[in-house]
Amino acid sequence: MVVGVLVELANKSVDRIFDYNVDDSIKDDIKVGIRVEVPFGRQTLEGFVLEIKNSSEVKDLKSVIRIIDKDIILNKELIDLGKKIKANTLSTLISCYQAMLPRALKAKKKTNITKKYDIYYKLNDSNDYKFNKTQQEIINMFKNKPLIKRDELLKISSSSLKTLINKNILIEEKKEHYRLEYGTKTDNIKKLTTLQQRVIEEVNLNSSNTYLLHGVTGSGKTEVYIKLISNILKNSKTAIILVPEISLTPQMINRFREVFGSNIAAIHSALSEGEKYDEWRRINRGEAKIVIGARSAVFAPLTNLGIIIIDEEHSDSYKQDTNPKYNAKDVAIIRGKTNNCPVVMGSATPSLESFARAQKKVYKLLSMNERINGKKLPEIKLIDMNNEVKKSNSHISLPLLDAINKTLDNNNQVILLLNRRGYSSFVTCKNCGYAFKCPNCDITLTYHKTSNTLRCHYCGYGTKVYKECPECHEASVNNLGVGTEKIEEELHKLIPYAKVLRMDFDTTSRKGMHEKMITAFKNHEYDILLGTQIVAKGLDFENVTLVGVINADTSLNIPDFRSSENTFSLLAQVSGRSGRSNKNGSVIIQTFNKDHYAINYTKTHDYIGFYNYEMQIRKKLKYPPYFYICYLKISSKNYDIASVEANKIKKSLERNLKNTIILGPSPANIFKMNNIYRYGIILKYKKEDNLYNLLNMLYEHYRTNNKITIDIDFNPSHF
Ligand code: ADP
Ligand code: ZN
Repeated sequence: MVVGVLVELANKSVDRIFDYNVDDSIKDDIKVGIRVEVPFGRQTLEGFVLEIKNSSEVKDLKSVIRIIDKDIILNKELIDLGKKIKANTLSTLISCYQAMLPRALKAKKKTNITKKYDIYYKLNDSNDYKFNKTQQEIINMFKNKPLIKRDELLKISSSSLKTLINKNILIEEKKEHYRLEYGTKTDNIKKLTTLQQRVIEEVNLNSSNTYLLHGVTGSGKTEVYIKLISNILKNSKTAIILVPEISLTPQMINRFREVFGSNIAAIHSALSEGEKYDEWRRINRGEAKIVIGARSAVFAPLTNLGIIIIDEEHSDSYKQDTNPKYNAKDVAIIRGKTNNCPVVMGSATPSLESFARAQKKVYKLLSMNERINGKKLPEIKLIDMNNEVKKSNSHISLPLLDAINKTLDNNNQVILLLNRRGYSSFVTCKNCGYAFKCPNCDITLTYHKTSNTLRCHYCGYGTKVYKECPECHEASVNNLGVGTEKIEEELHKLIPYAKVLRMDFDTTSRKGMHEKMITAFKNHEYDILLGTQIVAKGLDFENVTLVGVINADTSLNIPDFRSSENTFSLLAQVSGRSGRSNKNGSVIIQTFNKDHYAINYTKTHDYIGFYNYEMQIRKKLKYPPYFYICYLKISSKNYDIASVEANKIKKSLERNLKNTIILGPSPANIFKMNNIYRYGIILKYKKEDNLYNLLNMLYEHYRTNNKITIDIDFNPSHF
């Protein structure tokens, strides 16, 4: 027997299947999709068995060293899926498979992530032996229970237990256990409203349609998902639900667990690698029928898939921006077709691409334009900060402060958003304007107050803050940026009695903190929840009647064609946290651009208005959804090589692509990162038959070149 094995090598030029002999001793356990260890040159590598055949054209084959685990890691569907993703993203096949698996199962050398076992004993009754009293006591325990955990027996007497084991009267039995345990508490599904019910009826569960559920915040999308999944389970099928990591909150997971108990496997970043490994195996063995997780959960090895749901479909977190640069939405649609099951994508603010597809009837549009119980969406008020900054030097304007005070007087709660997107708390010199930058990456350093350091968020470089400017030597260094800590300080001064809970990536990084904070806020232990994007999504607190946005504009200023869309969507999402129960809610947005259309359509909750306006702009500027975009990044340690090769590539593309607009090469947004120089070329096209072929040739051409790296990103979420 010969097997074709795909291995991972650091060298990107090797991405192919190698043949190995299989010794008779392990032949019976060889299956397509398992992991094996093989010799490769002088090394020993792990790889996936992708082919089984009788013979090979290669002479003097080496042999498989061992089988790593008998379970099939990549089933047939996933093997085929990997090939499609490779073709669509132009990345190595091995990287596509590695992306599907938790770290413990990737075919690479890794830290020891092992299975956990409990040790049990059973009685070996073929013995006639005289027992003493304690021994008899142990033996008696087996009358009612054939299998007893070691710990229980140890409680009686460890020496007696040892004797019984040595005499072979008790035999050990190991049972695998999972690190996480869930009860099976089941709660009733809520009685659906007419609107929700109508959506359920419109989804054809025996089709591979893609649906776009456009439902305003608080319209009860989660309950729709739950009902769809419970219908799927009744047909003995399985389901995947994707959510952005940021909204994969304990609230969300708990709601699903309430309904589906241990049928759910939840994969999120707060799990340890061992826990992820266990969850994955529960899925692979068919013990969990529903998987909820972020982007990579789209690869969950469920068989008999009945539905894939993608919540907050506008989120850019579904696009992976490292290789393989796949979009989980595209992968979901491929899996939907393979399994003949529907894909349902939901959002209060669908991405322009998806909504345009719904308009063209490529996706089927489902709408829920009312909140549960017919509650009104919160009233939104804009505060023109151009006037307010003159009146006070605080980041919190007087009208916002006033509203916060009134809300707290009524014993309600407040959420405050500090829009950090595209915002750096950079440090500059007031005298000469010098800005502190990372010496490796050419981006401004971010100020961290707790450690009083400046840090690079790309490479980790850190330095102390000096009062004296390195450029002009005046003691005029000033922290311009405002972070959540600064706002928290201001709140303490302005409203000393208010209890403020600060939630950002710093305060939630410790395991379990996120959940604790959410519970504490829900229990009204705090009055104000202050945070970054993390507070904008998925949260559902009944006492929140005021949402304040400190700075709406920062995300408008990013040089990205999606900046308006992202701003509109963020503001709509965070506004949606206000007035979700029977209390009326309101929203106050502080802005320096109160006439900007993204802000104005937010004010009137007018998604369609925003969509139509933004579509005109996209059309004029030839951006998605009218044109596709592909971004090429050409990078090198050597400045000249990077620039020369980038220009060469552009010329060759120009010669070969007839229907494509080619922009650049221009320095990438971050021109120098980790001491590597980067140029970008943007391709805009509607239909260009030759494009994949050509780019693939380009990619192959540079694969073995170690002076230059070329990176290809189709439909990038940002440049
Ligand atoms: P969305 O995700 O659309 O913003 P949610 O799914 O979070 O909205 O629902 C908003 C609120 O309405 C939640 O508190 C939820 O429990 C409640 N809800 C949803 N559907 C129903 C229903 N059919 N009956 C009663 N309450 C519901
Ligand atoms: Zn850096």
